[in-house]
Amino acid sequence: MENQPYSLFSSLEAEEVTFFADLILPIPVPKLFTYRVPRGMADILKIGARVIVPFGKNNGRVLTAVVYRLHNTPPGNYQARYISEILDEYPLVTGYQLELFNWMSAYYMCCIGDVMNVALPSGLKISSQSKVQFNPDFDYPELLTEFESTLLTELKKHPALSYDELSRLAGESTNIPALIKSLIGKKAVIVFEEVKEKYIPKMVRKVRLHRNYEEREQLLVLLQRLEKLPKQQEVVMRYLSHIPLQRDPTLNQKGLDKTILNQDEELSQSSLSTLLKNGVFEAFEVIQPRFSDNSPASSVEIKLTDAQRTASRQIMAQFESQNIVLFHGITGSGKTEVYIDLIQQAIGSGSQVLYLLPEIALTTQIVVRLQRVFGDKMGIYHSKFSDNERVEVWKGVVSGQYQFVVGVRSAVFLPFDNLGLIIVDEEHETSYKQHDPAPRYHARDVAIMLAHWQQAKVLLGSATPSLETYYQARQGRYGLVELFQRFGEATLPNIVLVDTRQEKKQKTMKNEFSSALLYALEMNMERKEQSILFQNRRGYSPYMQCEDCDWTAECPNCAVSLTYHQRDAELRCHYCGHKEEVPRVCPTCGSTKVRTIGFGTEKLEDQLQIYFPESRILRMDLDTTRAKNAYQQIIQEFEGGQVDMLVGTQMITKGLDFDNVSLVGIFDADRLIRFPDFRATERAFQMLTQVSGRAGRRAGRQGTVLIQTSNPQQTILQKIIENDYKGLYDEEIQERQDFNYPPFSRLIKLTVRHPDRAISQQAAERLAAELTDALGSSRVLGPEEPLVERIRNQFLFDILIKLERDKVNVKAVKAYIQDRINDILTDKGLRQVSVVADVDCL
Ligand code: ADP
Ligand code: ZN
Ligand code: ZN
Repeated sequence: MENQPYSLFSSLEAEEVTFFADLILPIPVPKLFTYRVPRGMADILKIGARVIVPFGKNNGRVLTAVVYRLHNTPPGNYQARYISEILDEYPLVTGYQLELFNWMSAYYMCCIGDVMNVALPSGLKISSQSKVQFNPDFDYPELLTEFESTLLTELKKHPALSYDELSRLAGESTNIPALIKSLIGKKAVIVFEEVKEKYIPKMVRKVRLHRNYEEREQLLVLLQRLEKLPKQQEVVMRYLSHIPLQRDPTLNQKGLDKTILNQDEELSQSSLSTLLKNGVFEAFEVIQPRFSDNSPASSVEIKLTDAQRTASRQIMAQFESQNIVLFHGITGSGKTEVYIDLIQQAIGSGSQVLYLLPEIALTTQIVVRLQRVFGDKMGIYHSKFSDNERVEVWKGVVSGQYQFVVGVRSAVFLPFDNLGLIIVDEEHETSYKQHDPAPRYHARDVAIMLAHWQQAKVLLGSATPSLETYYQARQGRYGLVELFQRFGEATLPNIVLVDTRQEKKQKTMKNEFSSALLYALEMNMERKEQSILFQNRRGYSPYMQCEDCDWTAECPNCAVSLTYHQRDAELRCHYCGHKEEVPRVCPTCGSTKVRTIGFGTEKLEDQLQIYFPESRILRMDLDTTRAKNAYQQIIQEFEGGQVDMLVGTQMITKGLDFDNVSLVGIFDADRLIRFPDFRATERAFQMLTQVSGRAGRRAGRQGTVLIQTSNPQQTILQKIIENDYKGLYDEEIQERQDFNYPPFSRLIKLTVRHPDRAISQQAAERLAAELTDALGSSRVLGPEEPLVERIRNQFLFDILIKLERDKVNVKAVKAYIQDRINDILTDKGLRQVSVVADVDCL
């Protein structure tokens, strides 16, 4: 204002108020930042809109921020900078979402910027880190200005340009944020952050008849001419059977996938080439639209069984008095069918529905089933989608195109404003909890808050509910509906324990395989039925050791052994990703007796191939599923029936539904059970019950599950055999109460990290002492070194805080803990110490 020239209206202007906006910046800082709103923007700027702002030294960075508050008080301790551009005229982030961000940052003890950063797909965050790509789907050149048009011609020549490269290209005087905003608005460019997110369109090769033959008469002449060339005539006829030109000549322009025409023998391929050469057909390429899988709903009618209908009605009845209902239905009972029924009712009443799954890639089968019912009204939101696909779902929710979204945990961040129902399928799954980075949130618990704000109902579904959830249901705080009958005539599988200690004594084990399991696999092969083998460890073997001097391969950065991966002939750290070559001789003593100990999925696959040379085996674990469609491929191949056995990690336990699987073999059950954690028994029960549930899902023969264990007497195994969830619950809940673990308390884990072990320990001890003084020693455990005490060259110490459910003011305690953490972080003697708070840690 100071530099304004004198004007007749100066008295008026002096009264004019300056507006300020408090912004959420997508960076880990604890506070909002106040920026000045340029004069012309004051009228249009809305809470929840995105703006572009300069940030950092000399305004060197450009960031996208979200408006949290508008006011006219300048910040007290710094000079507010100007907002450079407004990206949205209407709020992109709803009031509910701002409330959610705020709540999450307080509850999960993290910065609001961290929350916003994971909530917004990076395609919505233009920054100096962004890359800009020409949109191959771009369709409206007539909308471009001349300048934009020239720029695009240039952009097309590059795979993508960085923000800086684009600025250089456009020239100094150009307002780059404004330019990008305009190009995005015209759908001429795509913005992304990481190279892996670059949008690569799928090209489809097509053929069509030359225009000359579109009209009936010409077509007849052509067919006549081909009378003497039956092969070529056949190709044309096949084209016509897919594209009935006789009825509608305009159909020809769209053409037909080339693969459909030359599917079979080579003859038709050469005929097609000749036809192309002679100009009868012409070849062309088109971009496959991104969501082409989304076929419109075929009007499949779901007929619920009596038991399912009863369950659905009970759930609706309980929703009358309860906001949250637990749906406890055994594996294969058809919970999905019940969900579909409820979703249809909710959509029918005009509200939005969110269906959460632990990992969509693994539940392709469910998505396909849902798609058949809901078609392109259903949005899909998951981690293997590119960022731009996520932006489209986001916009589809705002525009109302997607009233129903099925997604993974991050789908809780979508801009819903009228939720009626949230379904959390497999609610016990730990993958609902984000471990790293912040916010370390649990999607089930966030979903419950979302529903609370929007007065929606929550349905938690599982065959093996988490103890926390079941406890709430028992207490009457959640409703409870049970379905203990498999769909159709199918029954739960018969679970048999195989005593590996016995078999070892009798020398009947072959490597990792008991004779009982080998026999069962053989029988299953003969019957042409499929088997699933479960070992929750990937790689070939978890240890490599020297027989002479006991040297073990260890990660240089972490306190763990390296896993041997035979396929890639390397040793790998599963914590930090470190890789090294496999040593030929022991690096310490030079001995050649370097051997592997223990076994992972790779080794099982190898051994199976030796015992069953004629069988076809697939493996599903992190290593075989890195590519975008790898899961689908494995699942489809296995479904196709050409495959006899599927070996896998916990991935194969989640929601898979195969007709022909009648045998499940489980290795190393003892390791799951003995894991040193108070949740180990619960987890082992869940995992073993879920993987067993993959067997015998169709009427006919009852499925069989063989569990290999060195101690068949363990009570938990008996409970798994009897499918005795309630028995497990009663025992476990007593223990939880005795030791004051969840659900009787809330846990907060603080992890202190530093590259120097002594400093890490010193900081952790000080923090623990301060917290113990304030909270009492019964509420503070540790510090203690975790099982893996060093990761990425940081030494770790854990402090566990237990807060009773009802007696403690959790909010105040969290604020106190945060203050003590801040003391540590600002202590000059403890430089570089970092502290991670994990609320409701698992
Ligand atoms: P859950 O999720 O409870 O383990 P699913 O929902 O996967 O069980 O159902 C098991 C199988 O039974 C699926 O293949 C499903 O298509 C079939 N099924 C369940 N209910 C019905 C029904 N009412 N009509 C037809 N098929 C059904
Ligand atoms: Zn050695
Ligand atoms: Zn490592």
